[in-house]
Amino acid sequence: MHELSIVSSVVEQVIESLEKYPGARVTEVRLKVGALASVVEDSLQFCYGIATDETPLEGSRLVVNIVPVTVHCAACGSEGPIESLQSFRCPSCGEPASDIRHGRELEIESIEIEEAEQVEL
Ligand SMILES: [Zn+2]
Repeated sequence: MHELSIVSSVVEQVIESLEKYPGARVTEVRLKVGALASVVEDSLQFCYGIATDETPLEGSRLVVNIVPVTVHCAACGSEGPIESLQSFRCPSCGEPASDIRHGRELEIESIEIEEAEQVEL
């Protein structure tokens, strides 16, 4: 499954960045996903539950921010979001535009962690 491999690599990256914070647990992971990345959020959430099992990410929340597709228009030089994925046209002048500037993102935006609890003496 496409989503499972995405989520697995996200989990790997998060665990790597946790090395600086021993004992910390992850409470939230925010992902930036382009509208063209062709992922289904429900599948992402489902796979996240599986992939984070028995990791420091277990029980954390996955927040998916969908990035709209924007194109740069060669005809008029403007850049903006397309109206629909079926129509790659410049939002300003209506010329066909295939120079995609945003919408293919697939990256971790932020990670929220909870530091290890202090031991009470
Ligand atoms: Zn244009």
